[in-house]
Amino acid sequence: MNKEIKLLWELQKIELEENKLTQIFHTLNQKKELKNLHQILEKQVQEFELLKKDLDNKKEKLNQIDKEIKEIEKNLKENEMVLYSGKIKNYKEMETLSKKSKSLQEVKKDKEEILLKYMEDIEELERKLKKISNKIRKIQKEYKEIRLKNREDIDKIKKELEKLKGDRASIIERIKPEYLTIYKKLKATKADPIAKVVDSKCSGCNTILSLAKIQEVSQYTLPVYCENCGRLIFAE
Ligand SMILES: [Zn+2]
Repeated sequence: MNKEIKLLWELQKIELEENKLTQIFHTLNQKKELKNLHQILEKQVQEFELLKKDLDNKKEKLNQIDKEIKEIEKNLKENEMVLYSGKIKNYKEMETLSKKSKSLQEVKKDKEEILLKYMEDIEELERKLKKISNKIRKIQKEYKEIRLKNREDIDKIKKELEKLKGDRASIIERIKPEYLTIYKKLKATKADPIAKVVDSKCSGCNTILSLAKIQEVSQYTLPVYCENCGRLIFAE
């Protein structure tokens, strides 16, 4: 009697382990951690692209302003050449040219301020981009590592499940059909319907068994059930 239930106990152990591993397998297969990381990565890449676009835009504007300043400098030079050439005949002409120089210088000054602002912006953007690209590299590395670990874990669990399947088949072969029927019936209501008597207690519900029950377990040839939880009990 005990021998048969002990086999059922072994079968139950295998099946519980199979359930546990199957659950872990599903969790790993869902790759939640990888999906989350992928989302973070995508966001960073998006941000990088936006900043890069902004940077290119500002660099283009910087070049444009630089050209404009050079053009103003050229005009200024030409203006001054005329001013100091000695070809000017009257005061009015001189005054017009002086005014033009002054106004060109003011425009130049404004443009230089804008240029400076763009340079600062560009520097700041380049710093941000560097930071994000480092972050992206770090996440990519982490992603690869987790993916590899995930695959290894999945393979390991597949192998363990394969082994348990074999163990289960061989133990089922050793169990008498009538006991298998009892087990299957009990399994419909409980995941672990077989319990051991340990220190006069049922290992399933931890209730102290009556002395009569304990005697039944050791002497009866019929299946004995825990009075409290209804599990099939056996003593080692
Ligand atoms: Zn019990």
